[in-house]
Amino acid sequence: MYNIVLFGPPGAGKGTQSEKLIQKYGLTHLSTGDLFRKHLGEGTELGLLAKKYMNEGHLVPDEVVIGMVEDKISETKDTHGFIFDGFPRTTAQAEALDKMLGNHKMEISGMIALEVPQEILKERIKERGKTSNRVDDQDDAKINTRIKVYLDETLPVADYYSGQNKLTKINGVGKIEEIFAEITSVIDSY
Ligand code: AMP
Repeated sequence: MYNIVLFGPPGAGKGTQSEKLIQKYGLTHLSTGDLFRKHLGEGTELGLLAKKYMNEGHLVPDEVVIGMVEDKISETKDTHGFIFDGFPRTTAQAEALDKMLGNHKMEISGMIALEVPQEILKERIKERGKTSNRVDDQDDAKINTRIKVYLDETLPVADYYSGQNKLTKINGVGKIEEIFAEITSVIDSY
């Protein structure tokens, strides 16, 4: 059983690598961004609540995110573990995740952090914006807000896992297959 936090700024390649990891290890992909977008598409109350934060590039409040993740973990049976993608994004979320997993007799195996320079992130997000239909991928101001929010509010989460000796940093620039190989060698060492 592996429970992995795949960490990095928007545009780091977390979604791309998660897709490959769930296939190799039979893990459950838990992307809070994808879950919110699903709610948005279905027009649920949660989706409507999240929309105003998401479209501006701000974080959805912790209690909303944590509740949604808790539901997803509780309803997932027979898994080899989870890949957390885009979660936790604050230290409070990281603490809540440790508690939730503890309640299910699980723990985080490790955090893998993809490092990508800001200029490359911006290019990648804008490129994705041509096909993603995501409002938050479309303009410079929103992309800049998301990167700033990451630096101010999310980066401390790496310190949280570093304090538990669970952090491994990986260069997120290069060929998808090469980055994937590096990630799998970290996971295989858990
Ligand atoms: P993502 O697809 O991970 O880039 O997430 C898209 C947007 O969803 C973010 O910019 C936030 O508005 C919201 N979101 C996703 N995950 C979280 C989270 N863990 N905490 C707060 N907001 C989140």
